[in-house]
Amino acid sequence: MAVTTPNPLAEVRLRTQMFAGGDFVDAVSGRTYPVENPANGQTIAEVAEGGVEDVDRAVEAARRAAPGWAATPPADRKKLLQRFADLIDENSEELARIETLDVGKPISDTRSLDIPDSAATIRWHAEATDKLYDQVAPTGPGAVAMVVREPLGVVGAIVPWNYPLQMAAWKLGPILATGNAVVMKPAQVTSLSLLRVAELGAEAGLPDGVLNVVTGPGSVVGTAIARHPGIDGVAFTGSTEVGRTVLEHSARTNLKRVALELGGKSPQIVMADAANLDRVADRVANAIFWNMGENCSAGSRLLVDRRVKGPLLDRLVGLVERDWIVGDPMNDTTRVGPLITKSHMEKVLGYIDAGRAEGARTVVGGGRVREDSGGWFVSPTIFDRATNEMRIAREEIFGPVLSVIEFEGEDEAIAIANDTDYGLAASLYTENVRTAHRMARAIKAGVVGVNNYSEGDLTTPFGGFRQSGFGGHDKSVHAHDQYTNLKTIWIDMGE
Ligand code: NDP
Repeated sequence: MAVTTPNPLAEVRLRTQMFAGGDFVDAVSGRTYPVENPANGQTIAEVAEGGVEDVDRAVEAARRAAPGWAATPPADRKKLLQRFADLIDENSEELARIETLDVGKPISDTRSLDIPDSAATIRWHAEATDKLYDQVAPTGPGAVAMVVREPLGVVGAIVPWNYPLQMAAWKLGPILATGNAVVMKPAQVTSLSLLRVAELGAEAGLPDGVLNVVTGPGSVVGTAIARHPGIDGVAFTGSTEVGRTVLEHSARTNLKRVALELGGKSPQIVMADAANLDRVADRVANAIFWNMGENCSAGSRLLVDRRVKGPLLDRLVGLVERDWIVGDPMNDTTRVGPLITKSHMEKVLGYIDAGRAEGARTVVGGGRVREDSGGWFVSPTIFDRATNEMRIAREEIFGPVLSVIEFEGEDEAIAIANDTDYGLAASLYTENVRTAHRMARAIKAGVVGVNNYSEGDLTTPFGGFRQSGFGGHDKSVHAHDQYTNLKTIWIDMGE
């Protein structure tokens, strides 16, 4: 079933059924659920509501497809996946519109980042497919020992709503390139782009059952994936709390391999010698307000040397007022769209109230805006006089809220930066190369950007320390490790 949306700005093809075994299918129960546009609260589609039996059906299809896909010569897998990436690029305008409609992300971001990065990710892993060699171990002449990689078989992937297609692509690229079949579960509120992309995968020639998508609530579909005996590994991106339950399900069932990419409370550290405070302010703002702060690596704690705090804060407030325009996400000039749902907006507003109650001071923003639109908009908010003990500095808000904390000297900066349960990302601004090296090593985080806010690029691994997750990395060839088993084949060469 293909539906043309009534949205006057976009002619997009919305797929609303699940994708299993190469076909779009209704939920076994026949049930559907409404999906809304967060910019105006209106329903844009009714999507199939999957249950346990839908996961079973997808896993069966994936199990049937997995041996053939694993045995496909890497060069052929590469060509299919390259075609898949090309089709995403060819349909990028439509996909950008779907993503903006469904998630509320500014169209300038979905056009320039979400969709091109998703295609590029799949292409990058496709190209690696026939370029990665296995190993021969340095044994003596009495044996030949090969260390080879084999696909796990069927991988379950559970992805969140903040970058629906990009996070799906970070999983799909390495899962498919390494010869696994996949059962993907998008977040219930943001399934539309992945369903359309599954259709493009079929058009590219992916064999039936290699890529399956089951839509529906995490408590049902996600749990069924995490517990399923026919799934050999699960890759999860989302909250620390749900990551914990996925791990428990695996432990209590078939001990499937688990890779967790979870939350963060990432520090941005600005030393007194940081050069060009205008540029620093621009990057600091980007780190927290990009994607409405709905970003696991958002730089939500600004740790700033008290000698430069005043001038940096002035610049930040100026930037927010001038550049971080809240508006209709379909508008080219909008940089801040709505939050994902009403309940998430209420959660973020609750944190803003908590910040005030605990004694921090809002210097810009601090509330809901554009209420007349019917959407879930919160203005970019900066809290001065925060301390690292406040809830706004300890808990992941997942919204456009920055807490500014002063420090004096390198040791205090590191102590505050590391005083968190998380360890996903960090940024550090200094002109001193020795300070940069020392501090980048001392910060407990999976990615440290020096003089920028960065998650690296496709060539570098992305993953966290501590309660930000473990078990694998997205991006780079390291992403292949979590979807392959290492096997030793020892051949006796003696008489
Ligand atoms: P969740 O962790 O609940 O959602 C992530 C994914 O897990 C979704 O596909 C969700 O499905 C699924 N899921 C939910 N419950 C289960 C379950 N019991 N078993 C298996 N899968 C499940 O995050 P939320 O969407 O609720 O967001 C809550 C908070 O999590 C945010 O405020 C933010 O702090 C953090 N978060 C972090 C992300 C990151 O990138 N690290 C991404 C998203 C959120 P469904 O949504 O359909 O129920």
